[in-house]
Amino acid sequence: MVRLTPDGEATVLSSVVHSQIDDHAAFGGVVPEIAARSHVEMIDGVVRRAMVGAGIGYDGLDGVAATAGPGLVGGVMVGLGFGKAVALARGLPLIAVNHLEGHAVSARLGARVAYPFLLLLVSGGHCQLLEVRGIGDMSRLGTTIDDAAGEAFDKIAKAMGLGYPGGPALEKTAEGGDGSRFDLPRALLGRKDCDFSFSGLKTAASRLAQTCETDQDRADLADAVQSAIARQLSERSDRAMADYAEKHDHRLFVVAGGVAANRTVRRVLEATADARGFAFLAPPMAYCTDNAAMIALAGAERLQLGLVSDIDAPARPRWPLDEARALADPVHP
Ligand code: ATP
Ligand code: FE
Repeated sequence: MVRLTPDGEATVLSSVVHSQIDDHAAFGGVVPEIAARSHVEMIDGVVRRAMVGAGIGYDGLDGVAATAGPGLVGGVMVGLGFGKAVALARGLPLIAVNHLEGHAVSARLGARVAYPFLLLLVSGGHCQLLEVRGIGDMSRLGTTIDDAAGEAFDKIAKAMGLGYPGGPALEKTAEGGDGSRFDLPRALLGRKDCDFSFSGLKTAASRLAQTCETDQDRADLADAVQSAIARQLSERSDRAMADYAEKHDHRLFVVAGGVAANRTVRRVLEATADARGFAFLAPPMAYCTDNAAMIALAGAERLQLGLVSDIDAPARPRWPLDEARALADPVHP
């Protein structure tokens, strides 16, 4: 639960996350049917804990935000259905939130952030550079042409036998490693756009993983992979900053999404932003990977703007961020 003042100060009153990692770890990735069932089993308890934790009864709510997509639709339908039930029962406005819009505003949970800003969204399923002019008002400057950065972390970690989810495991393995002995491919060098590509790196690193014999070998390879991913994120962001700086005087670069929890990635991106004269911001660590607070904040920002949803707002398996405003417009005018 989040409180948002009219001048944009956000306070997290509670943010309950039930992680399903243990349910899926044995399968090396998310199993859709298990994910949907777990949502059904957990949602009552999660909502109750959020209400108790915030210390505010249902009478203290101004609106109900629920994720409406994109993502595995089984889980999305459970949360959206629950949100609609609460909204109907209490006569509250419903705000159907795009999950990626939650990531996009997540840095505002730790600091006051004024729009507009340049955003690098790096998560398990997305790797995009976006111009964020305001809530529901974003355009994409570049995206990955194959894998997302988080996906690259996960798949390479899996090939190295490091477990799931791969990003944090690979970061830990890289401690004490020296990746300089590995020559990993660099994608899209010299390209004038802001796109990303990680499949070449994934193939090369997965092949090298088969040659690792000692813990030191694995630490060195993990360090090489982490540096290569951070370097590409930096190179493409640097391009985007150059373009962005021609249009905007307010130079702020924000990174968000699960991969923003990686310390090397944060450090490298901060240096890149510094060199371009951009202020740098990343969400507090707890709000990089998926969480409730970022969805509540996106909902609260929408509510302030009057962008509420119809009660029959659909769950959307696919929902590009630059179309996020559409769902706020009444379905039946
Ligand atoms: P999306 O938001 O695109 O739908 P998602 O919700 O699954 O995808 P997030 O929860 O934002 O993704 O982030 C999870 C991803 O972040 C995983 O790929 C995970 O490996 C990666 N990740 C988390 N922590 C770290 C870390 N410390 N270093 C690198 N990657 C990390
Ligand atoms: Fe996410």
